[in-house]
Amino acid sequence: MIKKLASVLFLICFASSCSLAGGSKSSKRAESRAAGAAVTGGMICGDPSIIGEVVGDVPGKLKGCGINDAVKVRAVSGVVLSQGAVVECETAKALKTWLDTGVKPAFSGVGGGISKLRVAAHYSCRTRNHKKGAKISEHGKGRAIDISGFTTKDGNEYSVLSDYGKGKAGKAIRHSHKAACGPFGTTLGPKSDGYHEDHLHMDTARYRSGTYCR
Ligand SMILES: [Zn+2]
Repeated sequence: MIKKLASVLFLICFASSCSLAGGSKSSKRAESRAAGAAVTGGMICGDPSIIGEVVGDVPGKLKGCGINDAVKVRAVSGVVLSQGAVVECETAKALKTWLDTGVKPAFSGVGGGISKLRVAAHYSCRTRNHKKGAKISEHGKGRAIDISGFTTKDGNEYSVLSDYGKGKAGKAIRHSHKAACGPFGTTLGPKSDGYHEDHLHMDTARYRSGTYCR
């Protein structure tokens, strides 16, 4: 009887996209359209504006690496990522806050607005700055993302390496960098430590002293 009821419910849902499953389905379509590109995946992290796939637990090959309940983020708030970024949900949500409160306003007058971010790095089980014997990077915990380029709706891409601080778009990148401090606990960019001339590093590690933004 229960089995039969379940299959009847399934049929009803299938035919008319019932309110429970159908809600996320239609928001998925809406997000995919908003992104202006074919974005695969559905709502993740309980947020309809974060689109991607559930990855689950990622085991680390070094001690201190790995992620519990990882997701692969493909688009956030209608902005497409150049590659799926494997992170934990807290970092995906920080990315959303940064896009909504920092990047979108900064690029509002540039090329019709932001449409895509170039992801240079996401999950990677490694030490900080690839130095042997150093502490495990936040990248090894799914708490960090590196962004190296910004594409506007007119199709132009601006890079951190060659455009940072220069012209309208470069200033928008610099604004975006500054605005990442807060949503993310740690931000590093050009002229910070010599390792971040071509990308913005952002992670959700918090220190007792608060944020660390350079
Ligand atoms: Zn990084």
